[in-house]
Amino acid sequence: MKYIVILGDGMADWPLEELGQKTPLEYAHTPVMDELAKRSEVGMAQTIPEGMSPGSDTANLSVMGYDPRKYYTGRSPLEALSIGIDMKPEDMVFRCNIVTLTEKDAPYEEQVILDHCSDEICTEDSRVLLEAVLSQMDYPEYVFYPGTGYRHCMIWEKGQKPRLTPPHDVLGQTIGQYLPDNEDFLAMQKKSYEILKDHPINVERKKKGLHPANSFWFWGAGTKPALSSFFEEHQKKGAMISAVDLLKGIAVGASMDNITVEGANGGFDTNYEGKADAAVKALTEDGYDFVYVHVEAPDEMGHQGHIDKKIKSIEFLDSRVIARVKAGLDASGEDYRMMILPDHPTPIAARTHVSDPVPYLLYDSKNPQNHTWNYNEREVRAASGETVCGWDLMNHLLQQK
Ligand SMILES: [Zn+2]
Repeated sequence: MKYIVILGDGMADWPLEELGQKTPLEYAHTPVMDELAKRSEVGMAQTIPEGMSPGSDTANLSVMGYDPRKYYTGRSPLEALSIGIDMKPEDMVFRCNIVTLTEKDAPYEEQVILDHCSDEICTEDSRVLLEAVLSQMDYPEYVFYPGTGYRHCMIWEKGQKPRLTPPHDVLGQTIGQYLPDNEDFLAMQKKSYEILKDHPINVERKKKGLHPANSFWFWGAGTKPALSSFFEEHQKKGAMISAVDLLKGIAVGASMDNITVEGANGGFDTNYEGKADAAVKALTEDGYDFVYVHVEAPDEMGHQGHIDKKIKSIEFLDSRVIARVKAGLDASGEDYRMMILPDHPTPIAARTHVSDPVPYLLYDSKNPQNHTWNYNEREVRAASGETVCGWDLMNHLLQQK
């Protein structure tokens, strides 16, 4: 038996007036998921524990079978794992964004934060800027690692957790009251601003009408997550297929392999077919028992508030990923159990994640069922009994415990 999760990040939503009170998932043309649903068990799952914030981090840990209340130690430690940092249990890890502050003729504290991602600065330029600051700064107890785009990582050995603020929560505000309450952190942010403000890369960016990447901003502190190995938990050899650092980090933490797919970029134009083919190959040729296919696009379209593109990304998931995986596995003659679900809703109306339960379908090729329902929030809610706990789904998929 082979096992597969196909996860449409943020795919669930609320009914929209523009769609005649349908959700994007309900409105989208998804013949493959709807046909599968008729042969499947469906239900609602609570992936976000009460009181925790509905991030892709907590939600995907859940779907992977890890209770976030026990295993979640912050987002930056998971990202640190994904870029190959070997953390010690007592290390404190931080995200170091390069953000955009105003360049008013005033003290640092009086600047306003304009952009938490510096207009999505590319990895190459962002690394040059990081290096430019580090070469002129002398704080040996803090070790920096370049990450993807504006997202760098910093480790403070045996560090503490100062008061820090997520930069995207305070956009448009004067930064004074949101600065770190740790002297070194504040000094490093100020120093970075002095160095970066007039850096040639930023002079060039301003000429092009792009936000300059002119200050470090520390946030997201956490310690090394102690995930148990997926194999030891379940005796299944697992692989992750995702373009997103966070998901790759979860895989590293769970001692699973990451499979890289060319052209998979976490965006709307990702390589859908490539992901499907990689999943089938992993299961049928490369000896994996379990594959987790993560598609970021519906979440991104939810954040951007694009109804049409969210619908389209769900249709792509249906026709270009799920159909292909199903065809590949059916042709291989392997028996399989396939679960399809989002990690959390990212409603168009909210443009951010919410904690509502999500609909799942679970198809077993050896035991097809016979129902009339389709796969969407409304019909699954109506069809399902009690909402199940998100981190119990993995055992259920794997027919364990
Ligand atoms: Zn997510």
